Amino acid sequence: MEKVECVVIGAGVIGLAVARRLAQAGREVIVLEAAEGIGTVTSSRNSEVIHAGIYYKADSLMARTCVSGKHALYRYCRDHGIPHRNCGKLIVATTAAETEKLQAIRAHAQANGVGDLKTLTGAEARALEPALNCDAALLSPSTGIIDSHAYMLALRGDAEDSGAACAFHTPLLRARVVGDGIELDAGGEAPMSLKCRLLVNAAGLNAPLLARGIDGMPIELIPPAYLAKGNYFSCSARAPFSHLIYPVPEPGGLGVHLTLDMAGQARFGPDVEWVDHIDYAVDPARAERFYPAIRRYWPTLPDGALMPSYSGIRPKIVPPAVAAQDFLIQGPADHGVDGLINLFGIESPGLTSSLAIADHVGELAEASITAAK
Ligand SMILES: Cc1cc2nc3c(=O)[nH]c(=O)nc-3n(C[C@H](O)[C@H](O)[C@H](O)COP(=O)(O)OP(=O)(O)OC[C@H]3O[C@@H](n4cnc5c(N)ncnc54)[C@H](O)[C@@H]3O)c2cc1C
Repeated sequence: MEKVECVVIGAGVIGLAVARRLAQAGREVIVLEAAEGIGTVTSSRNSEVIHAGIYYKADSLMARTCVSGKHALYRYCRDHGIPHRNCGKLIVATTAAETEKLQAIRAHAQANGVGDLKTLTGAEARALEPALNCDAALLSPSTGIIDSHAYMLALRGDAEDSGAACAFHTPLLRARVVGDGIELDAGGEAPMSLKCRLLVNAAGLNAPLLARGIDGMPIELIPPAYLAKGNYFSCSARAPFSHLIYPVPEPGGLGVHLTLDMAGQARFGPDVEWVDHIDYAVDPARAERFYPAIRRYWPTLPDGALMPSYSGIRPKIVPPAVAAQDFLIQGPADHGVDGLINLFGIESPGLTSSLAIADHVGELAEASITAAK
């Protein structure tokens, strides 16, 4: 059986960032990817926002990796010429009741290490964005947007420059924990068996199912998987905004917000639709809920301007009744299996956090590999 030091499952943004981190630390790395190329699943079905880190539970893994990941990502974009724009975002209150909530949001952000939020009056916000209906707002200067595919290409390039290899059309089927490593059976066009010292499960939506296929992984520690679809609508009218525009969050989600892509095209969403299977089609009828939500902050949105665009699915590990989840990254200290790292529930802000998550996984990996010697 062929031996390799580290195997990463999944060539989404997380698997690629982890592969880069391990390869740059001098480890031998193979990435097994079921699809035909990099970033074809959740990593290409998101808002491409570099999040500031405002809302996550204080001291959670999401909060910590988002804030440190954001700084690392801006640096990486500058150093590698990745198209990105530090455009900022406005959190817009349209009623007095919402305005009262802004200070609590600002205090929460501060506790997360996001100390640069600025409170604006309605007039100050409209001076930045004249088309807004706004009672008051928070300006988040460190929010931005990124060309996520260019970013993933650069991560892959870095990983390969340091000796990593990607095998596409190569799904991991099952694995077994043996005395001195983990044995893997991969399928696809060229089925193969491999033995590794470190296995990183970065399979996104499929990570819990994949963990169940690892003989030796305690099944009771594998979280359940739930799917929360997010639908996007694009806008045929020119949206006259240069900042990202978010409403004051509502229970269960951030509300229907406006983001921009690198070409300046506006899109609205994602909403939250809990589903029981993966289907990326966007139901045009959902636009009826978007119009009133958007018109609260952009009253002149023309009738008929919204067009179904695309959707992504959040890899949830808690059911709808539970408000928030954290990233769940398990190493040997958590599950007792040497050489195995599982990444579960890597929903937003996973893109922003990717470099920080990779550092965290890199540290777990080094501890695991060193302990096994
Ligand atoms: C609607 C939505 C909007 C979002 N917006 C943002 C945002 O604006 N900013 C932000 O920071 N984050 C955002 N996110 C989060 C971000 O997109 C994800 O955290 C990130 O893309 C997760 O990457 P991943 O590599 O874990 O998963 P994926 O990109 O899904 O990659 C997993 C890979 O594993 C492969 N795979 C699965 N099973 C196997 C197997 N058995 N063998 C081999 N390969 C396998 C898959 O083919 C896939 O390529 C958003 C997410 C969603 C759903």
